[in-house]
Amino acid sequence: MVGFSNSLQTCSFCGRRQDQVRKLISGPGVNICNECIVLCKNILDEEFNPAQQKKDAAPAELSLAALQTPAEINKNLDKYIIGQSRAKKIVSVAIYNHYKRLLANQDKNDADQTELSKSNILLVGPTGSGKTLIAQTVARFLDVPFAIADATTLTEAGYVGEDVENVLARLLQVAGGNLKKAEMGIVFIDEIDKLARKSENPSITRDVSGEGVQQALLKMIEGTVANVPQNNGGRKHPQGDFLQLNTTNILFICSGSFAGIDELVSRRVNKRTIGFETAEQKKQKAEQKDTIMEEVLPEDLLKYGIIPELIGRLPVIAALNELDRSALLAILTKPQNALIKQYQKLLRYDNVDLRFTDGALDEIVEIALKRKAGARALRSVVENIMLDIMYSAPEHKDQREIVVDKDKVLEVHTRRPAAQSEVA
Ligand code: ADP
Repeated sequence: MVGFSNSLQTCSFCGRRQDQVRKLISGPGVNICNECIVLCKNILDEEFNPAQQKKDAAPAELSLAALQTPAEINKNLDKYIIGQSRAKKIVSVAIYNHYKRLLANQDKNDADQTELSKSNILLVGPTGSGKTLIAQTVARFLDVPFAIADATTLTEAGYVGEDVENVLARLLQVAGGNLKKAEMGIVFIDEIDKLARKSENPSITRDVSGEGVQQALLKMIEGTVANVPQNNGGRKHPQGDFLQLNTTNILFICSGSFAGIDELVSRRVNKRTIGFETAEQKKQKAEQKDTIMEEVLPEDLLKYGIIPELIGRLPVIAALNELDRSALLAILTKPQNALIKQYQKLLRYDNVDLRFTDGALDEIVEIALKRKAGARALRSVVENIMLDIMYSAPEHKDQREIVVDKDKVLEVHTRRPAAQSEVA
């Protein structure tokens, strides 16, 4: 008869004691632990289920020749991301180094034992400037699993909210359950700045909500073997089936707007103290406005409230600039998946040639700029204009041209301004 053991017995397969495993199941004269059961299941799967084998297959072997060079990565980014050239360059080099590091770790014959550390990335820049887009685009053309988490929803284990490990569960899900593939994926953690501890001096108060999560993230980022809940069709398995996922080779890209950090950088660069600002200093500051964030250093992040250990694990810092009028204009029409191109394609199915005049595009940018949400605002403004057109277009079957001019943009915008909530 099979039953659950009560006395301290050992697994007949691996020899571990009952108190060293999660569950030991005993049969007549034999015991088996939960881990050996999983191992046995894998052996059976391999033998009887070729589809499962494919799912667990290791991703294609890395080779230096197959790696995209920084210039190639940058070229791919250029197709989708307008401006931000320095950030794109920094990210391209970091990605290349990341996969070179994985290659070096695989190469057991390399006599050079120098350990290469991970090039996790911190993207700093205002909302809607392309931080998520850069990470998403990189993951797409490298064809690696990519998961996004919002730092503000994460909590330390045991608190109400989402456990840090759930991010890894999502990565595993995106990888189609393939552990090896997930272990080479990219995790993007947004709003990391919202975890900043409130006081610069760690001994004054312990800010549990933010600092605790920073600590939990730290472990994951520096490399750990995490117990990841297996998702079955998106739902956590009630009995808690766990897989052991090693995060050592996962690239972490953290991102945040770090509102006000430019002031800290400027103060350090210009060696100013808080208080009175001379006219000369004011002029200098105005001139530096667009480039000051390129000077951001770990010490500024420390002052902002990010714990030093976490900063140490994010060695690559790339600053993104606020997008100006000409960048927003280019975003509307230039990228491979530009908004206007998308609507033109959609309407081609209704025999409509859609055209926006230059005046209309300028006005859309003008409205978006006022929203102060970067390129994020463009979509809601254009969506608002396009609603009536898309509603009535399928009613006429003949081939025709629809021109959106400045007056149309203004007319829709004054009649029905896009809801502010649509912007976020
Ligand atoms: P955030 O910096 O807040 O992460 P996102 O990358 O999510 O901003 O940008 C929101 C949207 O705005 C993107 O999906 C994209 O359509 C557009 N966008 C933002 N920045 C750029 C950019 N530099 N080039 C092209 N599109 C951009």
